[in-house]
Amino acid sequence: MIHRLNQPDFDRWACQIKHTGGCRQPIHLRGKVEHYDQATGHLLHRYSTTTEPNGVLRVPCKTRRTSRCPACAEVYRADTYQLVRAGLVGGKGVPETVSAHPCLFVTLTAPSFGAVHVRREKTGKVLPCHARRDAEICPHGRVMSCTERHSADDPRLGEPLCPDCYDYDGSVLFNAISPELWRRFTLALRRRFARLNGLTVKALREHVSIAFAKVAEYQRRGVVHFHAVIRLDGPDGPDSPPPPWATADALAQAVQHAAAVVTAEIEPLSRTFRWGTQLDVRPITMDGDLTEQAVASYIAKYATKAAECVGTLDRRIQPLDDLAALPVREHARRLIAACMRLGRNPGLVDLRLTHWAHMLGFRGHFSTKSRRYSTTLGALRAAREEHMRAEQITTGRLPLFDEDTVLVVAHWAYAGQGLSVGEQLLASAITGQHAPLLRGPDDR
Ligand SMILES: [Zn+2]
Ligand SMILES: [Zn+2]
Ligand SMILES: [Zn+2]
Repeated sequence: MIHRLNQPDFDRWACQIKHTGGCRQPIHLRGKVEHYDQATGHLLHRYSTTTEPNGVLRVPCKTRRTSRCPACAEVYRADTYQLVRAGLVGGKGVPETVSAHPCLFVTLTAPSFGAVHVRREKTGKVLPCHARRDAEICPHGRVMSCTERHSADDPRLGEPLCPDCYDYDGSVLFNAISPELWRRFTLALRRRFARLNGLTVKALREHVSIAFAKVAEYQRRGVVHFHAVIRLDGPDGPDSPPPPWATADALAQAVQHAAAVVTAEIEPLSRTFRWGTQLDVRPITMDGDLTEQAVASYIAKYATKAAECVGTLDRRIQPLDDLAALPVREHARRLIAACMRLGRNPGLVDLRLTHWAHMLGFRGHFSTKSRRYSTTLGALRAAREEHMRAEQITTGRLPLFDEDTVLVVAHWAYAGQGLSVGEQLLASAITGQHAPLLRGPDDR
């Protein structure tokens, strides 16, 4: 820290850190950008990292995961919020009339893979976990009952009553196949909605399009479920109103049906997966129980979480890792072990279970949306970068050029990542972002 403070270019370093917005693991880039006049070939402006502290430019890591970088995850969360919200009330290029389109908030769950410890509340009172008067005894001699009233932070929540009875293979296979199950659900939904209205899928497309935005959330037991916004539009997307017969009620009916009938098979194991019986379908309204704001914040919150909230690792598991020595609870260890074991099955290579063991088998995207739901994260990022560029022009750091007349030649190379522990302390003082310290690249 003292070394960094005493560097003659400390002010410039501090300025770079400020621009990363408090990123705790900024990426270091080495390179240059040159602006040429296209007509004359004159060099108008040159930026090179050679004069920067350590010869590198530090840029934010842009992770979405809070456990890795709270500052960048916050940016991602805010962008996701804007994206989901724009699809509900308009803005960011989506017309405000979209708020009148029928719209549902749907939660699709995973089936049961065995009884787990749960915390349930009824009128403010915590109920016993699994109270059974004549509870059966499982083949491993465990009584399948638990009369405890678990506290909200009880680490046993989500863990099985009998780990030896629990279907660990089923749990990780469900995670692995869930993106396919979701895809089939969206197809079945379109088919059913068309049929309810006496149309073919092709004919439906001339009147209605169905837009989705979804996010995956890990439950305590280590399986994902999906929260989705499903909206009815006219044939041209959010700009066109759906016909009067395309109602939220009809859409809800089609959702119930599609969720109940779709299946996805893992043929080499002759296993078929379907959604759990718990299905939640609620209309989103501007003034009702479930407002567009609540939905957008809910989806955005889960977009920055991953499997680590189940107590697994937030990094990839290496083939040489000693599973028994991983700092995780037994339940997560067994889920990871199931991934590693099934991952060796040649028939299951497409599921890439070894690669995604730390995600307990899930390899899908955390938040996805159909093309015409609203704007994109990329467009939001571009708008922010354009704003920062405009700011740099007005503060004199970049000359003002007409985009079409200038040729930009850039060359960048990755030159490492992260901050030393001393630099992290300085960075948190500069940016006001406080997070536990990470081992820095220079401290190894
Ligand atoms: Zn970051
Ligand atoms: Zn229990
Ligand atoms: Zn058992």
